[in-house]
Amino acid sequence: MHQQDFYAQAAANIAKRRQQARLQQEQRIDAIRAEIPETVEIDRQLRSACQSVLQIAQSGRDRAAELAALQQRSLEAQQMLEQVLVAHGYPADYLDLHYTCTICNDTGLHQGVHCQCFQRELGRLGAEQLNAQVQLPLTRFETFSLEYYQKLPKEQFAAMQHIFVTCKKYAEEFTLTAPSLLMIGKTGLGKTHLSLAIASVLLERGFHVIYDSAGNLLRRLEREQFGREPASSHTDTMSLLLDCDLLIFDDFGTEFDTNFTRSAIYSILNGRFSAGKPMIINTNLTHEEIQNRYGDRIVSRLFASCIGMAFCGEDVRLQKRLQQPTKL
Ligand SMILES: [Zn+2]
Repeated sequence: MHQQDFYAQAAANIAKRRQQARLQQEQRIDAIRAEIPETVEIDRQLRSACQSVLQIAQSGRDRAAELAALQQRSLEAQQMLEQVLVAHGYPADYLDLHYTCTICNDTGLHQGVHCQCFQRELGRLGAEQLNAQVQLPLTRFETFSLEYYQKLPKEQFAAMQHIFVTCKKYAEEFTLTAPSLLMIGKTGLGKTHLSLAIASVLLERGFHVIYDSAGNLLRRLEREQFGREPASSHTDTMSLLLDCDLLIFDDFGTEFDTNFTRSAIYSILNGRFSAGKPMIINTNLTHEEIQNRYGDRIVSRLFASCIGMAFCGEDVRLQKRLQQPTKL
C-alpha cells in the first residue's frame, strides 16, 4: 500500500468509529426507553426546552428572563434523567455519545493537525501489512504442552512451568511500558511458540505487534535502505519497527552478519530501549556467542534491558515427531 492509501484508509477507519459511536448511542437510547418508560417523558421535556430556547434565539427579541427559565428547566430535566439512570444501575452519562478518542471525538484531527489516534491507526495499518507477509503462523497458549518437559530434572521442569506462567501473565497484563523479554535456549524448546502466543493475545487486545524472524525483518530493512523498495515516512519498515507496541525478533542471531545488519540491530535495540518500548527477543545463541558475535555494546544493552528466560529441555518438535506414527 502506498503512503496516500494508508492515510485514506486510516481516515476511513476513524470515520467508521465516529459512525459506530452514534449508532451505539441510538441503540442505548432505544433500549433505555423500552426498559425505563419514564425516560421518554423526561426526554420530551428536554427536547421541548431546547426547541423553545432555539425559537427565542431566532426571534431576535430580548427575552432574557424567559431564556434563563427555559435553561433552568432543561438543566433540571437533564439531572432528573441522570438520577433515573443511576437509580437503575447505569452510569449517569450512559446516554451520551462515547467516542473512542476523546481528544478529537473521532474526527482524526486535533488543533488542525492529525490526532495521535490517527498516527496510531497509521501504525496499525503498517504493522498489519508487514505481518501479512510473515511466514510464521501465530500460536496459542492452549496448544503449549508442558508434558514434553516432564522428563526433565525437577528444577528444570519447574523453570519451564515458571516461564510458561510468566509469558501468559505478560500477555494478559501487557501495557505499553511492559519490560522486554530475552528468551535463550536451544532450538525447539518452545521460544517461538510462547513468543507468538503472546503476539496472538496482544493482537486480540488491540495492540500493534510486529513479529518475524530477525533475518526477514533485516532483509526487508536492507531492501528499503538500498532503494529497491519505496520507503515512506511513518510507514517505512524502520519507523514501524521502532514505533509498534511490541516488536518480536524471532531467531535472533540467524541473520546474515554484515555491517548493515549489525548497525541496524543496534539502532533498533537502542531506539526501542531508550524509548522504553518493549521487545521480545528469542535466540539459540548463548550469552558468550552473543558477546562474540555482536560485541559489548549490543550485549550490555540487551542484558541490562531485558528479563532473561533460560529455556531447557529436549527438542519439543523432535519429540512430537517421534510420538506420531510413521507414515508408510
Ligand atoms: Zn483522536
